[in-house]
Amino acid sequence: MKNIKEREELAALLFAAPQGGPAADAAYWEAHYPGRALPGGAVVTRLGPSPTGFVHLGNLFMATINRRLARQSGGVFYLRIEDTDQKREVEGAVPTLIESLAYFGIDFDEGVRLENGAAAEHGSYGPYFQSARRAIYHAFARKLLLEGKAYPCFLTEEEITQIREEQERNKRLPGIYGTYAKWRNAEFEEVEKRIRAGEPWVLRLDADAAWEAGETVPFTDGIRGGITFPRNVLDVVILKADGLPTYHFAHAVDDHLMGTTQVVRGEEWLSSVPIHLMLFAALGFAAPAYCHTALLMKIDEETGVKRKLSKRSDPELALSYYISEGYHPKAMEEYLLTVLNSNYEEWRLANPGADNEDFTVTTEKMGVSGILFDLQKLEDVSRDTLLTLPSKELAEFMIGWARARDAEDGTEIADVYTVQRDTLEKALDVGRGGEKPRKDLAYARQIAAFIGYFFDEFFRMEDPLPENIPEAEAEALLKDYLASYDHSDDRDMWFEKIRGIAEAHGYAPKPKDYKKEPERWKGHVGDVSAVIRRALTGRLNAPDIWEIQQILGERRVRERLTPRTA
Ligand code: GLU
Repeated sequence: MKNIKEREELAALLFAAPQGGPAADAAYWEAHYPGRALPGGAVVTRLGPSPTGFVHLGNLFMATINRRLARQSGGVFYLRIEDTDQKREVEGAVPTLIESLAYFGIDFDEGVRLENGAAAEHGSYGPYFQSARRAIYHAFARKLLLEGKAYPCFLTEEEITQIREEQERNKRLPGIYGTYAKWRNAEFEEVEKRIRAGEPWVLRLDADAAWEAGETVPFTDGIRGGITFPRNVLDVVILKADGLPTYHFAHAVDDHLMGTTQVVRGEEWLSSVPIHLMLFAALGFAAPAYCHTALLMKIDEETGVKRKLSKRSDPELALSYYISEGYHPKAMEEYLLTVLNSNYEEWRLANPGADNEDFTVTTEKMGVSGILFDLQKLEDVSRDTLLTLPSKELAEFMIGWARARDAEDGTEIADVYTVQRDTLEKALDVGRGGEKPRKDLAYARQIAAFIGYFFDEFFRMEDPLPENIPEAEAEALLKDYLASYDHSDDRDMWFEKIRGIAEAHGYAPKPKDYKKEPERWKGHVGDVSAVIRRALTGRLNAPDIWEIQQILGERRVRERLTPRTA
């Protein structure tokens, strides 16, 4: 349809009813959203998740990068909900998404927010839900139609399948383009007839008319550097039959109107860049700077091969996994930074106590070939990070975690922690000071299990006695230990007593005595300590007994040393 009058008639038919008036014009929206007044060098980034109900590591990863890039430049980071695929939408997904990200310290300057638990809009560039922007997309689609760069297409699913099969047979590029684009230059009367008959249509971009570019398009990716793509030849769909835009079209319209300067997104979008550059050009918009991050990978436990994290087989892809295991947000952030920028670990070594906000994230230092997400490494980073937290703060964190778990699992951990807050703090603090602090604590679920024995409610006999010590022998040792127990003994005095008990029962008071004459002794003082440690903690491995006793307090120590069946 080369005729402008025909195009105008068509536009009136296609985009008739709801909007009308000035809002039907792209120019109206251009004027409606003024440019952003930002300091020089400031970048505007966004997170554009789809509300499918599954919040994943990729969302947090992308949010972390985009938030940092914006904040460190004095720019803006906003949240836009990409809900144009209504089949995939899940009730309650948006609050869950915002809350999950908030757990990890991700906040937005603008866009969708939670107010009293419900999603609300905040900012001058909204609506920030794509499903509420229909009139805007239609105005820009209409513009493309009037300029002869887009056209309605009535190809049915069956026809498209037929075309694809024919293309496969003839070894041609699959898709709707060139001579396969049957509706590109259809007669106006035919198009009009179909619209009036209510036939479903989609709007396609006319790839030949949209942009006078050469055969290739040069492009520079912020992470990957220069890439030359072949020009897009496909007449991609920009409006679907339900009137909502495709990702491609919404991306161009929204990121232009919302003033996004930098689009940082996953590698899966890299191959769509030629389509996006064509759309930006066709619409007369300047394209944003693009950065395509590498995919999140793991080493497969069975094959040992690096592969993409998958929703089906890797529970650790879900963000809820880290929340329910109780990874501290600071630990997660610290780990994400180490995988994000290759120079981060070096920076951390040089600045051990510094706030990681002082580190400048750069896209040049991001990996291009698959980012390895390693739970073991996360745990290691987490152990180091938790050591930097004051025990008060760690206790707060444990109580918060316990409260959330209790609500979900029907347990009652939080109340125990709250009532015995002093024990909790001391238990968390064991061995944390000094030159060589213990690194036992990694994440809340593991910590709760680790410190469980400090609380009567969670104390359980977990380990069996050492093999060389019979039950009756253990009882006799504990009986003597209890009889000699004085809670006010200092560490030296206490240990002297244990040595005495050991010797009296035929155990060498020092390991080296045992080594010298093994035939003279049943064992050595270490075996005696093991029996005591087990009685007090339920375990053979635990920190320093004297310190544990001080935290447990006299009542609990005596109770645990007293035989239950006596
Ligand atoms: N809705 C897209 C996704 O979830 C966003 C991609 C982008 O950031 O542009 O993959």
